[in-house]
Amino acid sequence: MLDDLKEILDIQELDMKMIRLMRVKKERLKELQQIEDLRKELHAQTHDKEAEIEELGKNIQSLEQKIQEVNAKIKKLESQQSNIKKADEFNAITQEMTHAERERIAIEQKVSDLVDKRVAEEEMLTKIRDSLKGSEESSMNLEKEIQSSIKLINEEGASLKEKRDALALKANQDTLQIYDRLLRNKRDRVVVPIENRTCSGCHIVLTAQHENLVRKGENLVFCEHCSRIHFWQESEALEGSAVATKRRRRRLASA
Ligand SMILES: [Zn+2]
Repeated sequence: MLDDLKEILDIQELDMKMIRLMRVKKERLKELQQIEDLRKELHAQTHDKEAEIEELGKNIQSLEQKIQEVNAKIKKLESQQSNIKKADEFNAITQEMTHAERERIAIEQKVSDLVDKRVAEEEMLTKIRDSLKGSEESSMNLEKEIQSSIKLINEEGASLKEKRDALALKANQDTLQIYDRLLRNKRDRVVVPIENRTCSGCHIVLTAQHENLVRKGENLVFCEHCSRIHFWQESEALEGSAVATKRRRRRLASA
């Protein structure tokens, strides 16, 4: 194998661990966000409901004010009427009073409807508050658990980065640069062995000439299909595997 690739392979293993770690962290952060979103939603519902109830209260108050005004008007008409002797004027005031009383009944009906509505809204507000309280209690433990797991992930990430930085100092800088660029594109292993004359990255079959170039290990050889860097798996690495056994048998047979 090309010597330059040995350090890169070690770096790659650390990078794969880091990618997996960051994926887990992202998931955990998403869970935290969901808890937060639910809480925000319940808070918003509470505020909306409170505003609605306040608005109902104002409407009820202004209608009650109107009832007072109508009552005052009726009283005034009554006192006017007591001084009147002419029948047609008397009747006109009676009519006006009847009209005012009808108006009062209509407003009272409206007030009664609004009061019913307010009772219903208040019941709903209580339910939302209960559910907010329940969700805050149940999510508190979960949040703590997620936060401590994120803390561990960060610690592990920092230690991985430290190891990687140390290895990166020792690595061939040109090769490292190429590797880094490939990794950014693929977010996956980009230095891969040839297995059964196939790229173990994209699983496309390679030519014999390509395999020979890789075996020689003189230069970096890229997969022409997926651009990954190929390396030749040394036989020690394959010891015990089916390929090695076959090879040994062949060697014994030819000896
Ligand atoms: Zn490939």
